[in-house]
Amino acid sequence: MSEPKDPSRPGARPSASPAPAATASAAGTSQCIQDLVAEFERLPGIGRRTAERLAYHVLRAPAEEALRLARAISEVKKNVRHCKICFNITEGEICAICEDPGRDPATICVVEQPKDLWAIEGSGSYRGRYHVLLGAFAPLEGVTPSDLTIDALLSRLKEGGVTEVILAMNPNFEGDGTALFLKEKLKAFPAVRITRIARGIPSGSHIEHAARNIVSDALEGRREMQ
Ligand SMILES: [Zn+2]
Repeated sequence: MSEPKDPSRPGARPSASPAPAATASAAGTSQCIQDLVAEFERLPGIGRRTAERLAYHVLRAPAEEALRLARAISEVKKNVRHCKICFNITEGEICAICEDPGRDPATICVVEQPKDLWAIEGSGSYRGRYHVLLGAFAPLEGVTPSDLTIDALLSRLKEGGVTEVILAMNPNFEGDGTALFLKEKLKAFPAVRITRIARGIPSGSHIEHAARNIVSDALEGRREMQ
């Protein structure tokens, strides 16, 4: 029961490969259970042992509880999509932040993922709008500028009314590279102030894991990008 994690299991990159095949240790269990273990094992951060624990938890749980989980997953896939304007996650066409007339449309905070947006919202210190890139450059993983929502951001700026773009990508290699690329692109809009969040968030770390006050300080201390 201590076989190593399958090195071929998908990580950050999507993969068309099937779930890891059931191993000899799973002999004697039903195919359904093996399939469930294999699906859990595809989740980020879940190894074989944890996948087995989760599968047996589902097996033992009351039917209603297990089906609630299945329904929640199915509802997310059916109803949740990206906001047409900012690419945040929403159940309608437009997200609640873009629809909120109380949010300052002149400031756009650019983040990598919806979870970064949630971290900044959690800090309670930002009242502008957002733009979610849905990633950061990762040339080694095959993520290029065209995989991000940069064109949509440029279209928003062309519409006018924006006076500041805050680049709130993660302070790591990919985030910094993305910020530099965007800064070049945004030179086409000389009237827009381009700022980068302060380095309160430790280098190499992630906004989503930073404490609220640190996120808040990083936004507060943002600087003009040189
Ligand atoms: Zn939105």
